[in-house]
Amino acid sequence: MPAYDPNNIFARILRGEIPNRTVLETEHTLAFHDIMPKAPVHVLVIPKGAYVSYDDFAANAPDAEILDFTRAVARLTRELGVDLDNGQGYRAITNAGEHGVQEVPHFHLHILGGRNIGRMID
Ligand code: C5P
Repeated sequence: MPAYDPNNIFARILRGEIPNRTVLETEHTLAFHDIMPKAPVHVLVIPKGAYVSYDDFAANAPDAEILDFTRAVARLTRELGVDLDNGQGYRAITNAGEHGVQEVPHFHLHILGGRNIGRMID
């Protein structure tokens, strides 16, 4: 696991050093609009703790943070109108490391929707 870089762009967003368009903030989780949206709905969900990747988060975050993050994702799909009761669905993905082509080394989930996302995204 690479060491967490405390100056990565999402760490700076969490410290309030870089602006973001917040969609939801809870005790342990922040969600904001992606600055280069790939779909009508493109929201990034990040834990407030310092985790590089999904596997880092799942292995090392306290249960309360994992639960808060998981519930925030479900709440967001509803509030964004892409959940299966109110909308037509979404894709949730995370990129990790070189082969996952991860740009920002702070764990984040992309929620994409508002159109048919297709079988793959780049
Ligand atoms: O590839 P990765 O999953 O790391 O994607 C990082 C995402 O963060 C990109 O979709 C990029 O548009 C987004 N981003 C952002 N705000 C920034 C910097 C990057 O929404 N200030």
